[in-house]
Amino acid sequence: MWFLIIFALAGKVLAICAVAVAAPTAAALWFIPDALIAYHLFVPRAQGLVRSCRYFKADRREVWLTIDDGPDPDDTPRILELLELHGAKATFFVIGKNAGAHPALVRAICDAGHEIGYHTHTHPVGSFWCASPQRLARELDQGLAVLNKLGVTVRRFRSPVGIKNLWLASALSKRRLASVGWSARGLELTGGDADTVAARVLRRLRPGSILLLHEGPPLPAPLRVNAIRRTLERLQEAGYQCVIPDEKRAS
Ligand SMILES: [Zn+2]
Repeated sequence: MWFLIIFALAGKVLAICAVAVAAPTAAALWFIPDALIAYHLFVPRAQGLVRSCRYFKADRREVWLTIDDGPDPDDTPRILELLELHGAKATFFVIGKNAGAHPALVRAICDAGHEIGYHTHTHPVGSFWCASPQRLARELDQGLAVLNKLGVTVRRFRSPVGIKNLWLASALSKRRLASVGWSARGLELTGGDADTVAARVLRRLRPGSILLLHEGPPLPAPLRVNAIRRTLERLQEAGYQCVIPDEKRAS
C-alpha cells in the first residue's frame, strides 16, 4: 500500500516540476499513479492493496462454493436444503446487519457444517473504497461482534463487490481475517436466467475454482435460489464436489 501512495505522491511532485516545460508529460505523471491506485481499489482480481485468494489447492475435482449477502429468511433455508441434497459444503459470506436480524439462520448454517465468512456490516458498495480507518474499523467490528455473540469465530472476509480500501490490509491483519476473492462469479444482476448464470459461473471451471453466487432480494426473483440449484446440478453432472478448503489450501 505504501509503495502505491509514495508512487502517487512522487508523481504529483514530478508533475508540478514538469508542467512548465512539458505539459503532456506532467499530465501523465499526475494521472498514471492515480489510475494505478484506482485499478488496485476497484478491480477485484488486483492484488496490490490486499492479497485475496482466488483459487485453492485441489488435486481432484473440488470447488469452493461461496454465497454472499445473506442470511436471508426466504433464501437461506432453501439453499441449505439444496446443499444437503447435493452433499455440498459452502461458505456464506454474511452481512453483519442481516446476521443480527436473523441469528437463527446463522446458527442453521453452522449446524449444517457450513462456514460463516464476513462481508462487512452494511455492505457499503459506494463508499467502502474511501472509508476512513475509523469507519472501516466500525464496518468490520460491528458485524464481527454480532457473529461473536452468536458463538461464531470468523476467519475469512470478502469485501463488497471485491472493492478494496487503502487501510484494509492492516485492518484485516489485526483481526486475523484472510481476504477471499473468487475465480468466477454469477453476476446475477447482469441478466439471464438460472441456466445462463450457472454457465457463467462454471465457464472456466477447474479444480480449485472459487465460485461466487448471491442470495437475497436484490436478485431478480427467478434467479433466487434457482441459480444456485442449477449450478449445483451442473457441478454434480461434471463430477465436482463442493468443499470448504482449510487455510493451508486457500492461502
Ligand atoms: Zn456482496
